[in-house]
Amino acid sequence: MKKTNKIKNKSNEYIANLPKEFNRPTDTVGQRLLKEYGALFIARGGAIPPQTVIFKSEREVSAYQKSISKSKDSIGGFTIELQTAALKNLKDAIAEAEKNNLTITPRGADSAKRNYADTVMLWASRVNPALAYWVEKGNLEEAEASKIRLLSPFEQVSEIFKIESRGMFCSKDLSKSIVYSVAPPGTSQHLSMLALDVNEHYDLRVRDVLAEHGWFQTVVSDLPHFTFLGVSENQLSKLGLKKVFDGRRFFWLPNL
Ligand SMILES: [Zn+2]
Repeated sequence: MKKTNKIKNKSNEYIANLPKEFNRPTDTVGQRLLKEYGALFIARGGAIPPQTVIFKSEREVSAYQKSISKSKDSIGGFTIELQTAALKNLKDAIAEAEKNNLTITPRGADSAKRNYADTVMLWASRVNPALAYWVEKGNLEEAEASKIRLLSPFEQVSEIFKIESRGMFCSKDLSKSIVYSVAPPGTSQHLSMLALDVNEHYDLRVRDVLAEHGWFQTVVSDLPHFTFLGVSENQLSKLGLKKVFDGRRFFWLPNL
């Protein structure tokens, strides 16, 4: 009984720290996405997280991106655009890393900001080969695969979760859920301009410097991916996040 209460209180802590205007998902897909990617929504320190766990169109994404304060800079040969607070703290982290002869560089041109179409394309790059594979293997009827292909990217999400619950995983290596490989359309933290994919993610010293400046790992198994939460590490559990150990790394996830 005592244990149950404790878990309940912890999950209340996360809920209590969500922005007042945040639309808490009531459907199972939305709730799952909140669990997997939801650390972002308690971001502080000048960050403005989205009010929804899933953007349904380019129009919704661009309205949100227009509403936030953002800045650009050239980092590691790429133009990086992030929310102003996120970029400022990233540059502070880079400067501190330099003192120790370390670099922090983006992996590519799409390492920071993305738009809705980018997330649709990335999603399709996992879904299409996975459907073809499971049909080829005889686990999935071609008719069912075709039906899924014809759905809108948004509608595909729940169907992909359904076939994954039957053991047909859709990550790049087909060994785990697609959510650990690519974000469903409209749900990528990169849409919020509070995320960055970093080359030097394997270096613990780099991860520590980023954490000191409010950048944390919040998506399990997405190793290069960092999220700007804008607080110090000792505040994260008070905001309702829990530290999860996976693949020799720590990730901060909603304690739901
Ligand atoms: Zn990323």
